[in-house]
Amino acid sequence: MATLTSTIAVERIKKSRIDEVDFNNLEFGKYISDHMLVVDYDNGQWGNPSIVPFGEMRMTPAILSLHYGQAVFEGMKAFKMKNGDINIFRPHKHLSRFNKSLDRMCMPTISEEMWLSSLQALIETDQQWIPDGEGSSLYIRPLMFATESRLGVKVSDQYKFVILTCPVGPYQAKPYRLKVEDHYVRTAEGGTGFAKCAGNYGGAFYPTQIARQEGFDQILWTDHKEHRYIDEVGMMNVMFVLNGNLVTPQLSTAILDGVTRDSILTLAKEIPTFKVEERRIALDEIEQGFIKGTLTEAFGAGTAAVVAPIAVINIRGKDYQIPVAGPTSFQQQVKKKLHNLRMGLEPDQYRWNFIV
Ligand code: PMP
Repeated sequence: MATLTSTIAVERIKKSRIDEVDFNNLEFGKYISDHMLVVDYDNGQWGNPSIVPFGEMRMTPAILSLHYGQAVFEGMKAFKMKNGDINIFRPHKHLSRFNKSLDRMCMPTISEEMWLSSLQALIETDQQWIPDGEGSSLYIRPLMFATESRLGVKVSDQYKFVILTCPVGPYQAKPYRLKVEDHYVRTAEGGTGFAKCAGNYGGAFYPTQIARQEGFDQILWTDHKEHRYIDEVGMMNVMFVLNGNLVTPQLSTAILDGVTRDSILTLAKEIPTFKVEERRIALDEIEQGFIKGTLTEAFGAGTAAVVAPIAVINIRGKDYQIPVAGPTSFQQQVKKKLHNLRMGLEPDQYRWNFIV
């Protein structure tokens, strides 16, 4: 594997900033690691990636991404395993989603070779930034944006691909109180919801702020036509344990194909007594589940949190409570299983771990 990284030039930082990091109190995204990987696209092809100190970049305010939104990113994690190896979790699945997002935004895709070698070289360079506390990891943020500098509305001919990383601690937010969104939409079918493009996030800020002012933590997004079917929660996929089965919305152009979602569904299928359903979920069905007591768990699934418990869903002005998920709940068990798998404490039967 060492051969993959040999072509990437590394300019090392003069003085590491790692002493500024409070590893016991890692606020998500606060401390960006010493180095970043950068590569430019021009004349229809990618140049050579290089690793340089993290810092400012020179570009003009006319770059097309700032005006017309050609900007796509990914979010993934690397772990320090119990045996000391460094493990990037499911980089192939993240690449496939990145390339789908790039395609949707008319941006050039990335080869598997460039993706893996770039990740590997950057993480090796900043390996001392990977925290090893329980539930900690190195968050990896690949990003591509249009850099052609001109004002006309067009698909850019030039791009920058950058990878940043930052150490993150265990997820600690309190269980969510959710507002069912019945006016705004995150995206519509046929839109860009399945792509991890910047505009999806900017567009969600306003309805989320309103929900926060109303005393909610996050939004339960519903379909754009009738607001009757559930799509996602905040910036995560949503899952329910309903009638003893795991139920989650089926993928569509309005839903991001979450890597955590896929991992959890795969692991859930191993449980013989558990049925896994990917289908449309009506809000009415969830409300009935609350009333009849057949809805026993609800949680968000995503890279940052792994699972984020949901405590309350407000449906048509009424708060419905879900019991706190204890250690024997599905969500806690699957979280533990994923943790064990990524730390090398369980066999990696799906080959999800990529050892650097
Ligand atoms: N939906 C949205 C809108 C997201 O931003 C994310 C986070 N990437 C997810 C779902 C969960 O995806 P993943 O499990 O790959 O992090």
